[in-house]
Amino acid sequence: MKPEQLVRPEILALKAYHVPAADGMVKLDAMENPYPLPEKLRRELADVLSRVDLNRYPDPSGQALRALIARKMAVPAGMEILLGNGSDELLQIVTTALARPGAAIMYPTPTFVMYSMYATLTGARAVPVPLREDFTFDARAFIARMREENPALVFIAYPNNPTGVLYPEADLIEVLKACQGLVVVDEAYHAFARKTFMGRLAEFPNLAVLRTVSKLGLAGIRLGYLAGRPEWIAQFDKVRSPYNVNVLTQAAALFLLERLEVLEEQAARIRAERETLAKAVGALPGVKVFPSEANFLLVRVPDSDRADERLRKQGVLVKNLNGPTIKNCLRITVGTPDENRILLAALREAL
Ligand code: PMP
Repeated sequence: MKPEQLVRPEILALKAYHVPAADGMVKLDAMENPYPLPEKLRRELADVLSRVDLNRYPDPSGQALRALIARKMAVPAGMEILLGNGSDELLQIVTTALARPGAAIMYPTPTFVMYSMYATLTGARAVPVPLREDFTFDARAFIARMREENPALVFIAYPNNPTGVLYPEADLIEVLKACQGLVVVDEAYHAFARKTFMGRLAEFPNLAVLRTVSKLGLAGIRLGYLAGRPEWIAQFDKVRSPYNVNVLTQAAALFLLERLEVLEEQAARIRAERETLAKAVGALPGVKVFPSEANFLLVRVPDSDRADERLRKQGVLVKNLNGPTIKNCLRITVGTPDENRILLAALREAL
């Protein structure tokens, strides 16, 4: 018996999420915060983690952590929070809950690949709606399509990955008003855009806000959270695996989110560096930088396959985007000033 005879055809057709080897490379391909935690904090954290009972299962719903997140992240009173093993897991949970037979899942494209991936995995109908040529949001076209498809679920990355574009707030409000399904506003890059729908949860019964601590500097601990009305969260909670957020993650987040200002200060440095880098990259011949409100830049170059290969040879890893929805672009994560200097010199050679 061969796997091909048993595995669902839509899974056979998928490609595995590819993460390239990064040993010894300047790693600017995954939107990580390049700054380590301050030494003193690392030592204190080590002490906190040394006292965690690894023999015990975690608090099943992460009650203390949810309370801390509600306080630190300005989750409005009356709203609930669901924790996930990364926000990826929460995308999967929401999709699984809403993927009734025939249900449509809509999102502007190009965007985060996991929206379509989870739609496929759950047997839902993925409905990608193209952004404009310059990756701005065509709200009228999106809403017109929404009226045809009546999606159960809409994903809007705010700002978007891989483009960095932050859609106008008024456009999203039009989407929220017109949509009969749930709209998940994915604020993975909130620390760099500082625009949010969190405060508007009470206004729209079909809104949920998704966040992650990954881009803030804690990608390694895998923690995301979904904020929304209790009646939505109660349903999604049933889909969650028991103990999905492990004891070390809960303990580390409880310790570090109490000290959020350290991570916010790093995010401020990244925002400032983003502007410096955008100017420098934009000054290179034949290069176009798209305006970004995230911790990366989308850059159009004459030949991205060639540029990517030549960057790699010089020890710099970025994300090459050259497919049906996005042509000849590199997505470059903003690094430390040193890393950005190396990238800039290498890119000059690579074009
Ligand atoms: N949403 C968006 C828009 C993203 O770009 C990413 C990561 N690339 C995620 C969600 C998932 O992040 P994580 O699973 O690390 O929380």
